[in-house]
Amino acid sequence: MITSNVIDLIGNTPLIKLKYPSEISGCEIYGKAEFMNPGGSVKDRTALGIILDAEEKKLLEPGGTVVEGTFGNTGIGLALVCNAKNYNLKVVMPNITVESKRDILRNMGAELHLVDAKPYSDPGNYQRVSENLAQTLEKKTGKKTFWAGQFENLSNYKFHEKTTAKEIFDQTNGTVDGFTCAIGTGGTITGVSVGLKNFNKNIHIACTDSQGSSMYNYFTKGNPEKKGDESITEGIGQARVTKNLENCIVDSSFFVTDSECMKMLYKLIKTEGLFLGLSSGVNICGAIKLGKKLGPNKKIVTILCDDANKYYDKMFNKEYLQSKNLPIPDWL
Ligand code: PMP
Repeated sequence: MITSNVIDLIGNTPLIKLKYPSEISGCEIYGKAEFMNPGGSVKDRTALGIILDAEEKKLLEPGGTVVEGTFGNTGIGLALVCNAKNYNLKVVMPNITVESKRDILRNMGAELHLVDAKPYSDPGNYQRVSENLAQTLEKKTGKKTFWAGQFENLSNYKFHEKTTAKEIFDQTNGTVDGFTCAIGTGGTITGVSVGLKNFNKNIHIACTDSQGSSMYNYFTKGNPEKKGDESITEGIGQARVTKNLENCIVDSSFFVTDSECMKMLYKLIKTEGLFLGLSSGVNICGAIKLGKKLGPNKKIVTILCDDANKYYDKMFNKEYLQSKNLPIPDWL
């Protein structure tokens, strides 16, 4: 393959059959290798979807500025797309994210604003600070400034509906029985649920929620109420129903602890050569639970959101793992 633009490499990721998860669930479990996107995560799709939509709606001028609040991966995706398309990028990020994500953003030339981690109800929350920054900048410069707003911007889920869902359906020749993933903005699960249900309404969609998040209780009891202690995972966990999530179609929900997630990630490193990031562990544990629920020989797909390279400070830091009472891989 020869391409003249890195943007062409976003999406069309392969499905990998996961051996151990398939074995213990009695199903065929596949992971969509989103870590193979050029920015290294599933969020390259969100970044591209949002920018293409903004261009179409003339919300972005040539050489214009994009502002976004992100836990990191959307920022990296936006940095890649904005640089390739000659836009400026300003990113607001909570200061609890791993250092490596900040370094990548700085090294890609994005302007980084770190803020304390605050709940969405607080005006100091990174998403709200980013919206405010876009408005202030527009007033100050008199130039159009585009706030990407991935949580509320519906082009996030629509791009997943158009690309991720279609790819999963085509790659399984329409034989996929179930899909599950965790929720950050809800763009992935909403887009894939709407897309797959349009192909075949019997495809089962499950939310897999991490500890410290409110989506398990939302989908099972109707109210977003936090379950379990804060998670060490990044990019997932949600306390409110975002605009993207309002469109989501979910049939069942599973809950995965950090301890289950870490055990799975270490197992897959050593037995399948898969060096996956934190949220992928939650997704795979959820896929196994969905497989067990749907019964033997079903085809289940989940998302391998990013790889482990950004998470060394957590995943391979003995003291940190000990302090969180999490399993430690025997090679550390
Ligand atoms: N995993 C990782 C590593 C992420 O960065 C994100 C995005 N926040 C997600 C999962 C969740 O995806 P979504 O925002 O589409 O719900």
